[in-house]
Amino acid sequence: MMIEIKTDVMRHPRQRYLEIAAEVLQRNLPSETISISGIDNNEKENLKAARLHDGVIDLREYIIHQIVDRERFGVKDSHKVSTVISDGACVVENGRRINNPYGYSISSSSEATISTRSVERMIPEQIRRFTDLIIAYTIVHETGHLFGLVSSESRRHRTGKHCGNICVMQSTATPEATLDLIAGGMGGDICFCSECVYDLNSRH
Ligand SMILES: [Zn+2]
Ligand SMILES: [Zn+2]
Repeated sequence: MMIEIKTDVMRHPRQRYLEIAAEVLQRNLPSETISISGIDNNEKENLKAARLHDGVIDLREYIIHQIVDRERFGVKDSHKVSTVISDGACVVENGRRINNPYGYSISSSSEATISTRSVERMIPEQIRRFTDLIIAYTIVHETGHLFGLVSSESRRHRTGKHCGNICVMQSTATPEATLDLIAGGMGGDICFCSECVYDLNSRH
């Protein structure tokens, strides 16, 4: 099994937030192979196809194009891809447009996207030095959804497939809330709760 964290920032592929996210995922998924790489030419084309007239990437549209490619190339469901996009983002669903989503995933498709710009623009000056940690949280969170977290039968499940424990699968409304969770309950390190760790490793 494999997790690929992909980035569209070709000149700086070793971004700190990518390394933090990979490290947290590796610690919690010891049997997975985790890699960080730049997006390939097919993915560049998919980004182009998902770009709206105002230059913003529709994250959902990007994933739909990725799903078509997965079928075309016979990529297995156990191969998870989280693509980190630096352009402005939106999600258009049922004719409604949501601007600046932090991320989007379709868990059944094994594809997630994260918009660094959406997260960055919400981070106030006084906590800007924690930007890498806050973006890493979003990457780990969206990747967690690709492993089926959090199942709707679970007691810790809250609305929208999120965890009620001190856990990266909690839904945090703002970057400040994300940082409070990491710095507070998590003791400075991004982590999954023990129930989510159990589910992560027993599902696949
Ligand atoms: Zn979520
Ligand atoms: Zn949890």
